[in-house]
Amino acid sequence: MTAALEARGLRKEFKGFVAVDDVDLTVEKGTIHALIGPNGAGKTTCFNLLTKFLSPTAGRITYEGRDITRLSPADIARLGLVRSFQISAVFPDLSVLENVRLALQRQRGDSYDFWRSERVLSRYDEAARGHIDEVGLTEFAHHRAAELSYGRKRALEIATTLALEPQMLLLDEPMAGMGQEDVERISALIRRIAKNRTILMVEHNLNVVASLSDRITVLARGEVLAEGDYATVSQAPEVIEAYIGA
Ligand code: ADP
Repeated sequence: MTAALEARGLRKEFKGFVAVDDVDLTVEKGTIHALIGPNGAGKTTCFNLLTKFLSPTAGRITYEGRDITRLSPADIARLGLVRSFQISAVFPDLSVLENVRLALQRQRGDSYDFWRSERVLSRYDEAARGHIDEVGLTEFAHHRAAELSYGRKRALEIATTLALEPQMLLLDEPMAGMGQEDVERISALIRRIAKNRTILMVEHNLNVVASLSDRITVLARGEVLAEGDYATVSQAPEVIEAYIGA
């Protein structure tokens, strides 16, 4: 196994309060890795450090063997490490196809002056349709984003993220606020996009974590409590205690 993303001695202090304390994390290439833990465990802070939305107080982060500790989110996106919804504000009045074409256009750095020109945007059609198919929205290509169900909107957000051609995706609570049907739809979608990509997600829904993740890191009070597959971490006494005590 080779590592896609590695953190060593990751630490974040907020005015003396240690939110993330000496965290080591290795996400192996081609896996779905979940970061879980009770409220206040430091998951969001950790996620923001790994995606470079926050700078660590100490520690080192490498992606594909390259030190990314000092790089910006845009820099690491260019390396193929992309946080979902990083650039992907979905425009409600545009269709699914138009949203994905626009994301592709931005990714390729074409001028905004062109963006209303059908002729110019149509050059992105083929790639856009590929991403739309991949997230299961083929039959909704011409629907306005605003008309989509919550789960399908999330799928569209993921399609616009795929336009950045990530090798690794970081998903922040992909199932938040979803009903069972959407949870199943997005789970299937994550499984599909993980076939040729690495995924790290923060997720509260433990059923989702159990069914999707190859590997799980459990945080509590800013520290790594346990790491392993679901069967292993869910039976660790310190994990059970942290969840009950939270
Ligand atoms: P989780 O996502 O696991 O619920 P967080 O990473 O949001 O945990 O928070 C971990 C701890 O750090 C909490 O005690 C929280 O209050 C604190 N914290 C998070 N962000 C800040 C901040 N910007 N300033 C001060 N404290 C913060």
